[in-house]
Amino acid sequence: MQQTHTKQRAIRFRPAHALIDLSALRHNLRVVRRRAPQQRIMAVVKANAYGHGSLEVAQCLERAGVDALAVACLEEALSLREAGIQCPIVLLEGFFHPDELPLIAQQALHVVLHTPQQVDAVLNCYISQPLSVWLKLDTGMHRLGLSAEEFHRAWQHLQACPENVQQIRLMTHLACADERDNGFTQQQCQLFYQWVKPFNLECSIANSAGVLAWPISHADWVRPGIMLYGSSPFNDTLGAQEHLKPVMQLRSALISIKSYSAGEGLGYGATWRCPEDMPVGMVAMGYADGYPRHAPSGTPVAVNGQIVPLIGRVSMDMLAVDLRQQPQAQIGDVVELWGGTVPVDTVARQAQTIAYELLSQVTQRVPRYVVDEEG
Ligand SMILES: *Cc1c(COP(=O)(O)O)cnc(C)c1O
Repeated sequence: MQQTHTKQRAIRFRPAHALIDLSALRHNLRVVRRRAPQQRIMAVVKANAYGHGSLEVAQCLERAGVDALAVACLEEALSLREAGIQCPIVLLEGFFHPDELPLIAQQALHVVLHTPQQVDAVLNCYISQPLSVWLKLDTGMHRLGLSAEEFHRAWQHLQACPENVQQIRLMTHLACADERDNGFTQQQCQLFYQWVKPFNLECSIANSAGVLAWPISHADWVRPGIMLYGSSPFNDTLGAQEHLKPVMQLRSALISIKSYSAGEGLGYGATWRCPEDMPVGMVAMGYADGYPRHAPSGTPVAVNGQIVPLIGRVSMDMLAVDLRQQPQAQIGDVVELWGGTVPVDTVARQAQTIAYELLSQVTQRVPRYVVDEEG
């Protein structure tokens, strides 16, 4: 087990931590490859690799042979380059200011262009080597992307500017791919293919939901994010049902066990009252670690591998569990908040959010330890 944040203190006292299982990450990448065997893979590692630790995740994916990594901004890309990541890195939102362009060129980053202003900045900049650009087309998501007209104009100018542009690829993003029977995905794909066909350029449409549910979206490159981390992009399945394995196990330990009498209230607001005399365990994990404060009583927590219900309000540093089904539990026993026993998707649904949010919001206070069974 190796500590991922070398700047952090080597000895840890508080038991809250996250295990990051790289063999599960490689397994999930194989699932991507099985689903999209002809496609190139741009593995999405934005937001600290969805909270898992971008460097370890990027190194593992690079070694496993992904064709590119994708991040949200230059800062994220630079920290990967500084750590020695050499494979292509795509800036999914491009640059926020033209001043970034010399660095983007120097670091050989791929840049997404989604506004005419970004296109003009690329045409007019002075850079040391030409850029690989991805033109992002808006096929109906209406978040980022060029219109058909803007795209045609951009393509004309960019392909006539070899001193600044060496390769042009095309992408779009799906708005509703996580809804298996929403015909909008098909419409977006058809519109995209209609637009791009005359250009014969490499194309990308699919996020995780596209990889898993929409073969029409596979195109030349796929862009999986959440499925690499083992979580399902759909709200009607868990990661395991998609043959994925959780990469993060969020763990802590019992730090107190007390018995209370029938009718006594627990924690802030005394929102939970003991229905009978019963043992209650306190776990060192709270919303300041990224555990969702809105997880209600009844949300599953695993103590020694057995599911028990969360009870009462989640505090900043602690939460309570009902130990009636675990009368032998002791202080120090291992608690899993999510991972292989409690799917993060289940906790997310209980807290009325999505796994993307829970995973990416695990805070700095929680040390990540990398485990890698296959070495
Ligand atoms: C985040 C992101 C992805 C990955 O999406 P998942 O649903 O996590 O697979 C793909 N493409 C773009 C443009 C993104 O921003």
